Amino acid sequence: MKWEENVRKVVPYTPGEQPQREGVIKLNTNECPYPPAPGVQRKIAKLEADKMRLYPAFPEKTDLAAELAAYYHINKDQIFIGVGSDDVLSVAFMTFFQSGKPVLFPDITYSFYDVWADVYKIPYETKALDENFRIRTEDYKQPNGGVIFPNPNAPTGILMDLDKVEEIIAANRDVVVIVDEAYVDFGGVSALPLIEKYDNLLVVQTFSKSRAMAGMRIGYAMGHPKLIQYLNDVKYSVNSYTMNYTALELGVESVRDEAYFKECCGKIMKTREKAEKELAGLGFTFPKSYSNFIFASHKKIPAQVIFDKLKENDIYVRHWNKDRIENYLRITIGTDEEMEALYAALEKICG
Ligand SMILES: *Cc1c(COP(=O)(O)O)cnc(C)c1O
Repeated sequence: MKWEENVRKVVPYTPGEQPQREGVIKLNTNECPYPPAPGVQRKIAKLEADKMRLYPAFPEKTDLAAELAAYYHINKDQIFIGVGSDDVLSVAFMTFFQSGKPVLFPDITYSFYDVWADVYKIPYETKALDENFRIRTEDYKQPNGGVIFPNPNAPTGILMDLDKVEEIIAANRDVVVIVDEAYVDFGGVSALPLIEKYDNLLVVQTFSKSRAMAGMRIGYAMGHPKLIQYLNDVKYSVNSYTMNYTALELGVESVRDEAYFKECCGKIMKTREKAEKELAGLGFTFPKSYSNFIFASHKKIPAQVIFDKLKENDIYVRHWNKDRIENYLRITIGTDEEMEALYAALEKICG
């Protein structure tokens, strides 16, 4: 068909499978195995259907912005809120990476970055992680159109020291550096304090992993008020009302319950410690994880084989047929019970 010549053609991001059957052990998309804060459940009953007649509030004017600002000891004008961090990152790509020079990110990283670069026609260059899957800061000291990396990195779970993060930000004062902190609450160190020192730093976080609210779609970016203003300008030029009433109301309750949040992250880190021992005992090797998943490779059995056999047992983990990582599985930390079922299945497959 002739019109196809003028279509924007993209290879979309492939998310992890979302099986809807009961009884599946889902360790493939880094969701939290525990429910959101109890206040979220209580608040649901108080939401008013009548409020849905109206367009939702502007996120930056809501209690959610105020609550997040108070939590992080920053001002409301230093926060941008979007529909999950995917929305935030997508708007950030559109807003900040316009120089025509290549945006830099690691070769092994969140596999949405190259998709956004492609869809927005932003040139990019990937920089190979070293043989231990670590970011080489030297690679990010060349002329570029911007820098983005997750810390801890995904899917490796490796945390980069804050002084190295700062080294990259400081070496790139003429472009925007985005640190994607989707997993920072599981033992990482946030670059957030650096936003006071560097007006080119955008720190992005999400409610999807550590706050057990992936289904609500809440993400946010923190940085200099000018960065935030530019993000809002682009956001309001595409779709003004992105955040729905329900998400804005429920997000507040999550932030208010810090004790529950800390408890949840603590439980996951404890289960992770146990998982490290179990997986090592089963013949897996993996880098030390600072996230809610472990990126593991078996010494003898190919990852694809393990992946397929686990799936036959209704246990879903993540595997990529991608250069350098085809022999790794990314295993989300579930509840202790879910992990016991995983170890038992792995014992049969690898034992
Ligand atoms: C999960 C994830 C995101 C996106 O999460 P949202 O659900 O859109 O907030 C962004 N970056 C990384 C590295 C992730 O793993």
